[in-house]
Amino acid sequence: MADSAPVSLPKGFVEFYKDIETWQNQVFFRLKKKSSISQVDAISLLEQYQQPLIEFTEFEVDIDDYQEAFMDLVRLIQGKRDKSGEFMERLLADKGNLPYEEMIRSTMHYDRGVFEQLQEKLGVPCNVTVFVAQNALRPFLRVFALPYEESIRQDEDISWGQGVCPVCGALPSISRVRFQDGRRFLFCSECFTEWEHRYLACIFCGNDEPNTIKYMVVEGDEANQLFVCDKCKGYLKNYDERNGTARNDMFITSVRTIYLDLLAEQQGYGLRETDFN
Ligand SMILES: [Zn+2]
Ligand SMILES: [Zn+2]
Repeated sequence: MADSAPVSLPKGFVEFYKDIETWQNQVFFRLKKKSSISQVDAISLLEQYQQPLIEFTEFEVDIDDYQEAFMDLVRLIQGKRDKSGEFMERLLADKGNLPYEEMIRSTMHYDRGVFEQLQEKLGVPCNVTVFVAQNALRPFLRVFALPYEESIRQDEDISWGQGVCPVCGALPSISRVRFQDGRRFLFCSECFTEWEHRYLACIFCGNDEPNTIKYMVVEGDEANQLFVCDKCKGYLKNYDERNGTARNDMFITSVRTIYLDLLAEQQGYGLRETDFN
């Protein structure tokens, strides 16, 4: 598979995300060192509660650690993105007063309230602060997910089987079909959890009628696919390792294939709410 996109992405787009991911990895390893991780059987918990783990398990974030991560990321973006430089400066100037705890809570609940207030107060657009807050939180979510990682990945009975992340409740950004066994795994960009899903079923409405689920590809590239559902008009990107190479960085695969999201939108498909609530 060609690693270049069939349509041109803005210059430096993929590199920007690679830098963010490298930085997130560093924070992740630092946080991981500080916490004691032992494997927990997530499947019995998921079966008992029927909700993502974060809904009933304490997700503790040390505010000093989060503030440090948030400001670290602000500095990283300041150095990379000319356009956002001024906004990053405003966040830096106010670093002692930012409502970190509320930003974490709002990020978790997709609530924009606190970010709108910041927009008014500091003149930093909502989207920009949401981006920083969300990306600064990801390493913490990845550490939270660690104890459950193994049992969830090895759940061959697909006992979770939902279209949202069993750990943090986010929608997957992409899925992959494994080279060795053709099984399909959904990937969460927030906490890096991978969980198995029925190969052909729609992650949004559960539809599995063959004629209404199909996949599209861009000519000449059979590995990067778009799974679309004609019942609910939902879509999810998929990377089929059997037509390409085995992938271990699904986060960057998802960033690289942003053109498939645009294609899906052009064709009238969208990311839907799931039946799960
Ligand atoms: Zn997740
Ligand atoms: Zn559907």
